[in-house]
Amino acid sequence: MSGPLTGRLALVTGAGSGIGRITSKFLSRDGAIVVAVDRNLKAAEETVQDLNSQNDNVAFEMDVASSDSISKVLNATIERYQRPPMIVVNSAGITRDNFLLKMPEADFDAVINVNLKGTWLVLQHFGRAMVDHQVPGAMVNVSSIVARSGNIGQSNYSPSKAGVEAMTKVVAREFGRYNIRVNAVVPGFIQTPMTATLPQKVKDIMIMQCALRRFGNPEEIAEVIAFLASDKSSYINGTSVEVTGG
Ligand code: NAP
Repeated sequence: MSGPLTGRLALVTGAGSGIGRITSKFLSRDGAIVVAVDRNLKAAEETVQDLNSQNDNVAFEMDVASSDSISKVLNATIERYQRPPMIVVNSAGITRDNFLLKMPEADFDAVINVNLKGTWLVLQHFGRAMVDHQVPGAMVNVSSIVARSGNIGQSNYSPSKAGVEAMTKVVAREFGRYNIRVNAVVPGFIQTPMTATLPQKVKDIMIMQCALRRFGNPEEIAEVIAFLASDKSSYINGTSVEVTGG
């Protein structure tokens, strides 16, 4: 099977669920060889079972908040494929919602560590390997519309995602000279396990605020990520694409 990403090695974090899982599927559909990583190995393995089996895809356990864990996966990837990925998708993320006045400090730290620092660590480790191996490519980070709009209960999550957008612009400027593009997607409210536990009352408000009057599905985000990962977006760099239903 040939497609726009044929033979390209792609790392997807948070690949065991939601947007990361469907992104793995779409990159594989487009021909990429997928390194699916998640802190939940079993979930990442399930993702890989569903991919184009003609390719040598692999699942690894990786905690994006741990430099050691990322190093191990990077080494294992280079050992297996003799090269680093040329596509990196940062989809791993968590929420720990609560009103500011009630939020434990540990929940602020956890969200910043995974969403913001985790993205930074993955960009740094995998970016360094791409530069060292002279591998051009594309990196896609996952922000969120609440980075721009704010959202009650997310004084940890919203700034973590605003940071991801700002980081995207910085790293794009730094990596452009190596022919590595860095962009972000900015999803609205998407039906995944992350939003499944929101009370119906909250979901109804989100739906009323959306022009299309519905949640998005992970396929609608993954399609944009696949586009940003491919040469079809070869002059799009350092920017963020809102996928929110308006
Ligand atoms: P999801 O279904 O919960 O998937 C996230 C995956 O990342 C899960 O498998 C999760 O594992 C994993 N993960 C969490 N912490 C990790 C870590 N430290 N290292 C490695 N993997 C880790 O959520 P999703 O909705 O697909 O979200 C994907 C991305 O989109 C996130 O960055 C999220 O913030 C962003 N986003 C989502 C929405 C939405 O409405 N769903 C909107 C805007 C942005 P566990 O299940 O063990 O936590």
